[in-house]
Amino acid sequence: MSAPLAIVTGATGQDGAYLCRALLDDGWRVCGTRRAGGDEALWRLRELGIAAHPWLDLRTLDLADENACDDLVATLKPAQVFHLAAVSSVAAAFEAPLAALAASGTACANLLDAMRRHAPDARLVYASSAELFDAPHVDESVQPRARSPYAFAKLVGHAAVQAYRASYGVHASAAILFNHESPLRGAGFVTRKIAATAARVARGSDEALALGNLSAQRDFGYAPDYVAAMRAMAARDAPSDYVLATGVATSVRVFVTTVYAAAGIALRWSGAGIDERAHDAQGVLRVRVDPGLLRPLDAAVQRGDAAKARRELGFAPSLDIAGLARTMLDAELRRLAR
Ligand code: NDP
Repeated sequence: MSAPLAIVTGATGQDGAYLCRALLDDGWRVCGTRRAGGDEALWRLRELGIAAHPWLDLRTLDLADENACDDLVATLKPAQVFHLAAVSSVAAAFEAPLAALAASGTACANLLDAMRRHAPDARLVYASSAELFDAPHVDESVQPRARSPYAFAKLVGHAAVQAYRASYGVHASAAILFNHESPLRGAGFVTRKIAATAARVARGSDEALALGNLSAQRDFGYAPDYVAAMRAMAARDAPSDYVLATGVATSVRVFVTTVYAAAGIALRWSGAGIDERAHDAQGVLRVRVDPGLLRPLDAAVQRGDAAKARRELGFAPSLDIAGLARTMLDAELRRLAR
């Protein structure tokens, strides 16, 4: 019997890279799609040692091109499709709302429609987002209310999943993803920025870390756990939507403090609002607020309830916030040592 085949869009991203590796490790063939771009975008696949894997077929694809998606699915007849490609930063989607819509919404509909016609038994998992919900506590029963271009783009894909499931019986599921981090997080995301700066400071840099809203609370999980849960969603007999979250909200301030403590730097906080700052034990300024980094709309607290995923998928976060901080810091220290 030949190996099953999965399509992974956004294969060069954080989740895409972990997902490709997990599938390849389990004997799948993987077609990973990416936008046109240089080889730098392959750094995650290289770090995981799969960039040149013989069963990883990396293709350039415009996901907003209906015919291109149709051809891909008709030719490959995949068993599973994971739609992870997105303008994945809320801030970047503010700058490019229509590109965000194309990558998340239009692309999702294109893939679902191609599956409906050419691979009706295939299963799709869509990377939806907690940002769709304007509520402090989110489970699968909360109604979406998109307030940002990122959330709007994600909502269109989310609605397509539900409509194709209800109308055509397509095995399509939405993973309602809360923040999940790892050493493969994009350099512009706050957790990676914190870990990378703390590592440089631990190695002697005297720089001060500039951040936006320190009080913003997020439910931070560990990316490989979320990827494993998305695979479990595709493997289930019945498609359904699942919140993936740790249930614990942590402020940016606490995450910074935890990462710096792991690096051996005790922070002392003072001031408030845009004057809030942290110094180390020697009195050196280590963290300050940059008003330019404050978001136009910033959800104050987001906490997810993943009871359904725990029950039905066996989802269990493997790292708490201290473990995540340690893992990300250690990876940055290794990068500096190379
Ligand atoms: P990444 O940003 O690491 O990866 C997303 C990939 O999408 C990029 O590597 C990029 O690959 C591709 N991409 C970017 N812009 C476009 C575009 N305009 N059109 C098509 N492709 C594009 O994100 P993650 O791996 O962290 O996230 C995976 C998915 O999960 C995303 O859909 C994200 O929105 C969603 N999600 C993630 C959360 C998180 O905390 N990580 C939380 C909630 C949802 P390339 O440029 O090489 O094509």
